[in-house]
Amino acid sequence: MKTKVHGLLAINEYYTSYWADYCIAIYEHLNLESYNVGIDVYFIDESHGLRGSTDFIDSEVMIEIAMIDTYTGLGYDFHDLSKTIAHEFIHAAQYASGRLYHEGMIQQGDCIASSWLWEGKRFVNTPYQERPWETEASNTDQLLMNNVLYTMRM
Ligand SMILES: [Zn+2]
Repeated sequence: MKTKVHGLLAINEYYTSYWADYCIAIYEHLNLESYNVGIDVYFIDESHGLRGSTDFIDSEVMIEIAMIDTYTGLGYDFHDLSKTIAHEFIHAAQYASGRLYHEGMIQQGDCIASSWLWEGKRFVNTPYQERPWETEASNTDQLLMNNVLYTMRM
């Protein structure tokens, strides 16, 4: 596996590709270096049907991007991958800026619950559609993708 490093961004891939350049362009567009947080991107074959995921572990942002749709066995197309990467980098910015913090699993009564802090407010076992950080990412990923792809054409 090759690792391409740019500032505090490390992109781990089996080959050097267009996608590493796209990650770097997003990183610069969002000025992520200003947060002084390491970001590790892993391109993986598949992720149990998830297109991508981002978490904050040991003071580092970790992004996983799936290349293959588990259910169809087919690779995601250019548009899907571009949008997923943009979406996950928006989460990276949310974590790196401290607006979003994943507390992980906490005890809640008799149950174990997943807990996040978003802008100082605690969200416990909040359904995906009701997470404000997901709403923000879904509302802005297309625009980020378009803007970054535009800068890469020049
Ligand atoms: Zn998301």
